[in-house]
Amino acid sequence: MPSSQKPTVVVCGAGLVGCLISAILAKDGYEVNVYEKWGDMRAKDFVGGRSINLVLTARGLRALNIPGLEGMRDDLLKIATPVTGRMMHSVEGDLTYTAYGKDPEECNFSISRSELNKYLMTEAEKSGVKIHFSHGLKKVDLKNSVAHFEVASGEVVDVQCDTILGCDGGGSAVRYAMRDHGVTNFTEDLLPDGYKELQFPKDVSGCEDMRGDALHIWARGTHMLMGLANLDGSFTGTFYMPKTGGKVSFEALTGEDNKQKLADFFTESYSDAIPLLGGLEKITKEWNANPVGILGTVRTEMWKFEDKVCLLGDSAHAIVPFFGQGCNSGFEDCLTFYKLLKKHEGNLKSVYDEFHGLRKPAGDAIANMALENYIEMRDLVANEKFILKKRVEGVLTSHFGPEVFRSRYPMVVYSSAPYNVVEKVGVVIDDIVSELCEDLKIPEDVDLEMAKQLIDTKLSPTLKEGNVDLSEDWHSL
Ligand SMILES: Cc1cc2nc3c(=O)[nH]c(=O)nc-3n(C[C@H](O)[C@H](O)[C@H](O)COP(=O)(O)OP(=O)(O)OC[C@H]3O[C@@H](n4cnc5c(N)ncnc54)[C@H](O)[C@@H]3O)c2cc1C
Repeated sequence: MPSSQKPTVVVCGAGLVGCLISAILAKDGYEVNVYEKWGDMRAKDFVGGRSINLVLTARGLRALNIPGLEGMRDDLLKIATPVTGRMMHSVEGDLTYTAYGKDPEECNFSISRSELNKYLMTEAEKSGVKIHFSHGLKKVDLKNSVAHFEVASGEVVDVQCDTILGCDGGGSAVRYAMRDHGVTNFTEDLLPDGYKELQFPKDVSGCEDMRGDALHIWARGTHMLMGLANLDGSFTGTFYMPKTGGKVSFEALTGEDNKQKLADFFTESYSDAIPLLGGLEKITKEWNANPVGILGTVRTEMWKFEDKVCLLGDSAHAIVPFFGQGCNSGFEDCLTFYKLLKKHEGNLKSVYDEFHGLRKPAGDAIANMALENYIEMRDLVANEKFILKKRVEGVLTSHFGPEVFRSRYPMVVYSSAPYNVVEKVGVVIDDIVSELCEDLKIPEDVDLEMAKQLIDTKLSPTLKEGNVDLSEDWHSL
């Protein structure tokens, strides 16, 4: 079909997913216009945006293997830092490192979200996409495919197109418009916790405590600090804690007289992190300057309407960041979308129908697992029973081999198995390991005969049913 006959596409939001899907469509010959609420973050005078680091995993990186865009993955790895495992920092200052895989090649990658976004914007433009900055979506006329954008002057611009892709993030205006038209409904559940950025200065990279290839975690029950390396040797730290209430919350630790409160709090719970963060003076300054971000889960009943509109990324399925899969799943949305576009030869109604059918259960499942991981990272990593179970999983993998037994974590972040299948397999793994851990004291004493029987009768059939092949090399991108 000549490109002139392809539907004209409006993408709402020039974030990570909006830029990737628009580049994919433009490469495939579609006329794509992207409308972004904020100004161009690549401009020298741009102020704003969040400084967070993201973890890209094999699942998300694999989704970048799209014809015409093959160079993207290698380009991104040049501006990313490998993360080979988790480093737990105890209250006493003890360090425990756990590798993610059998060797350092089996790793994740830490990347600055804004650098990733800038790169994807430029790639989208190189593919022929036009990005219209400072255009915030206000309303959508779904039946007639007209989007109304407000520009800086306050004027509203009407844009006619054939179809609209909502890639405008967790607070999606496209999703709200769909609900106003009665074609979907959704829930937005905010966590009681929020997050705040704190920077570890460059000179920490030489410290023994802060190896650059680890995700550093200070888990303290109701609050925690995480640190991820940047290319220049500094680390971006993210503090998670309740937004309000009690003695330990952002509300309780903020205010004019908070210097002493913060000093007491850090000395009691994060004493080893104080020098790494540059001292109490610097911590207090950043604490008071940086905003508290919100965290939440969006579950959308219907992600599409006829061939008129479809939601991708956070606009359909914003999740809490504790599995590091928000962006990865958004990239996977784009790959699925591309494959369906090919399968249905550009018939958008069929693409949107099947996309919703495949990705909605996956989105719901990763939302559930991310919430579970929130509890796991905050509380359970310091819980003896939990640690025993994780070690038993390690024993099972090394005894039976990764082609017979693997934990849920690598399945979520590295494999391409649908998240909803992984969620189901994860329940079976947990049942098996819980049974094996009853009355167990030392992981090495686990009953391997019983384990074999449980794997054969419970795990293997579930893997087969879900079409999950544990012998695949999930790291070959
Ligand atoms: C603290 C934290 C840590 C995270 N860590 C990870 C991680 O390690 N790994 C991972 O995979 N994910 C992580 N995520 C999630 C990840 O950031 C998101 O999943 C990802 O950014 C979603 O991309 P998106 O393009 O769908 O939405 P966004 O990145 O939110 O982009 C939406 C775009 O739409 C624009 N927009 C919004 N409203 C309008 C409007 N009305 N009109 C026009 N444009 C509009 C916005 O300005 C923005 O540019 C993390 C998130 C947080 C908060």
